[in-house]
Amino acid sequence: MNPIRIAVVGLGKIARDQHLPSIRASNAFELLAVASPHSRLDTLPSYDSLELLLTAHPDVQAVALCMPPQARAAIARVALRRGCHVLLEKPPGTSIAEVEELSRLADESRLTLFASWHSRHGCAVEPARAWLERKRIRCASITWKEDVRVWHPGQDWIWTAEGFGAFDPGINALSILTRMAPGALVLKSAELEYPSNRAAPSSARLSLTLDGAPVAMELDILHAGTPTWEIDVETDAGRLLISAGGTVLHIDGRPVDITPAQEYAALYAHFAALIRTGSSDVDIVPLRLVLGALSQGRRIIREPFLDNGAIERPTRGLH
Ligand code: NAP
Repeated sequence: MNPIRIAVVGLGKIARDQHLPSIRASNAFELLAVASPHSRLDTLPSYDSLELLLTAHPDVQAVALCMPPQARAAIARVALRRGCHVLLEKPPGTSIAEVEELSRLADESRLTLFASWHSRHGCAVEPARAWLERKRIRCASITWKEDVRVWHPGQDWIWTAEGFGAFDPGINALSILTRMAPGALVLKSAELEYPSNRAAPSSARLSLTLDGAPVAMELDILHAGTPTWEIDVETDAGRLLISAGGTVLHIDGRPVDITPAQEYAALYAHFAALIRTGSSDVDIVPLRLVLGALSQGRRIIREPFLDNGAIERPTRGLH
C-alpha cells in the first residue's frame, strides 16, 4: 500500500518532539513538507502557510495541525476544503461549534477528521479500560500537577483565555478518564484560580460525577518539583491507579506489567487506519467539560504570574 503523503503545520515543541519523529518512523506516511509562520526545517521544504505549501505540493493527502488551539480551526477549514485528511492536536478547538463545523465539513467531503487525544494512547490506558469494564466505580480522584515553566517555557498562548491555562494539560486527564471509564462524566462545580495578570487559570478544583460516583479533580501548573499526572479509581472490586500520564498502572497497590509503547506511534497508526477505512474520530467530551468548567467556575484572583524564564526540563514525559 502506498504511504499517505502528509505535511505538518505549526513547527513548535510538540511537532518537533513527537510528530516529526513519529511520522518519519511510520511506514504508513511519507512526510513531504512543513508550514509554520516563522520556524523552518533544514531537511524539508518549509513554507509560511498551509496555502503556500498546498500550492507547491498539491499531492499532499493529509495534514497534522500542531499549532496552539486558537489558530487551528481556520487552518483545518483550509485543509479540508483543499481535500486533505486532518489530524488535530489536542484540544481539538476552542469551542464546540468550531469542532462540529469541521466534523460536518469532513463528512460532507468524505475526508477523515481525527481529533486526537495523545494521552489516550498511553500504554496503560487500554489495560486500565479492560480492568474497569463491568466494575462499579465508587469514587475517583484526578491529580494533574506540573510546572508550566518546565513544560511550556515561554509559551504565552497557554495563558490566553483560549489557551486554557491549567486545563491545557488537565484536558489530557479527562481524555484518559473518559476513555477508560466511558460512563456519563458530569461537571458539578469548579473553582478556578487566575493569576491577576493572566486570562487563564493556573489551578483548578473540579467536582464531577461519573455515573453518579463522585470524582474530584485537582489541577495546578505552578507546581514546583516532580510532576504528578495520576487518576485514582476506587471500585467495588479493588482500586486502580493510572499514573505518569497514562503509562503506569497499579491495581490494589501492585504494579501491572505493561508492554511499553510510544503514544504518538499509536496515534499515527490510528490516523492511518481512519484514513484507510474512510472514517473519522471526533470525541468532544473532554473539551465540553473544560469549557463548562471555564464558563461556570467560581473565579479567585491570585498574585501575578511572573515567568522568569525556562527551567531545565526533565527527560521523561510529554506534557
Ligand atoms: P509551541 O511550542 O508554542 O508551538 C506552537 C507552534 O505553532 C509555533 O512554533 C508556531 O510557529 C506555530 N503557530 C502559531 N500560530 C500558527 C499559525 N497561525 N499557523 C501555523 N502555525 C502556527 O506549542 P506546543 O507545545 O507545540 O503546543 C501546540 C499544541 O500541541 C497545543 O495545542 C498543545 O496543547 C499541544 N500539545 C503540546 C504538548 C507539549 O508537550 N508541549 C504535548 C501534547 C500536545 P512559529 O514557530 O513558526 O511561529
